[in-house]
Amino acid sequence: MAKPGVDLILRGADLVLTCAPSAEDAVGRRGGVAVAVQAEKIAAIAPLPELEAAFDLTGARQVDVSGQILAPGFVDCHTHLVFGGSRAQEYAARMTRSAREVADLGIPTGIQATVQMTLQSGFEALQQSAQLRLEAMLRCGTTTVESKSGYGLNLEKEIEMLRVNRALGVGQPVDIVSTFLGAHDFPPEVSRERYLKILIAEMIPAAAEAGLAQFCDVYCDEGYYTADESRRILEAGLEHGLRPKIHVDAYANIGGCVAAADLAAVSADHLNYTTLPEIKRLAGAGVVGVVMPGLDFAVRHPRPFDARSMLDNGLTVALATDLCPACWMESMQLVMQLACRLYRFSPEEALLSATRHAARAVGLDDRGSLEPGKLADIQVWDLPSFEDVIYRLGGNAVSMVIKRGKVIDFAEVTK
Ligand code: ZN
Repeated sequence: MAKPGVDLILRGADLVLTCAPSAEDAVGRRGGVAVAVQAEKIAAIAPLPELEAAFDLTGARQVDVSGQILAPGFVDCHTHLVFGGSRAQEYAARMTRSAREVADLGIPTGIQATVQMTLQSGFEALQQSAQLRLEAMLRCGTTTVESKSGYGLNLEKEIEMLRVNRALGVGQPVDIVSTFLGAHDFPPEVSRERYLKILIAEMIPAAAEAGLAQFCDVYCDEGYYTADESRRILEAGLEHGLRPKIHVDAYANIGGCVAAADLAAVSADHLNYTTLPEIKRLAGAGVVGVVMPGLDFAVRHPRPFDARSMLDNGLTVALATDLCPACWMESMQLVMQLACRLYRFSPEEALLSATRHAARAVGLDDRGSLEPGKLADIQVWDLPSFEDVIYRLGGNAVSMVIKRGKVIDFAEVTK
């Protein structure tokens, strides 16, 4: 019988970090193996002679990755990728001034400032600016990005943001997971009750019917959505097939984690003020805890989240950039570096949180680890050891990215 063919062989790697759950060590370290890719998926990971025996390699492109390290592509499971403008002036002013002093200078601040800049940007401008950020993320090894709406705060603009997500998903290599976050803030022009009605009766059905989002998210915090309102919105999302996610306990604990656990949210994100009983409750409900060291850094958070209590109490923890105008962070390598140094993740915990656990936080089980049958989403690190990825601060270790079995040609992406 003819042996099956493969399209691509990555050979010579010093180390393959499979991140497979079945591995004996935490991150599935394997040496002396090559990776065979067929179409979009990983066909096998084995020593080259075994691959030669099992597959017909005559048509395969062979890529020599000698001296390098292979890891699963990062899944960035919480971003506000699509937005108009920039808040660089606000960010810079905040280095030496209070929020009040910055507002007194007449610099537009916060979510509402970005809402205004987004309302003033058309579809193409939003798509182009997001695409530049996506390319930077891909260069740093990210192959799947969750992207939220939430800077439109009216039916038309929120749907437009989700349409930008869809256009991004087909226009470049990174997979986009789309989340409806109409409940990011309240628009100034309508009453709170009226906006809640619009969210539930008009926006969620519209986002769901057009197939523009997989998840419904809400910003549950003091000054934003109450736990009760969050529950109503997430339940409305569920009725329309949108799985729940929640921004919770970022600046105050107003009980949102209880709603997240009751509704079996896919993820609960931020968790700065979450109590230990709540962490255990989230863990028991199978909710993934998403934490974002970059955001805490960018806002110089007074209460950094307690990652160790999460990791040590059975919560599945994922890492994300929280890329947004308040935290312009594109590199998951930098997120891992901050997670290890400031939040006491081990390097192994950080890698799993940035790959397999992050895939779970967006409901995907076809990626996040290197195993036969999974998507061939692979990053290649030009590093002497795995630990160097958290040791060499602020650089980019990535020398090559393979997305859905294709070696990314960055000259093509930029075109
Ligand atoms: Zn967010």
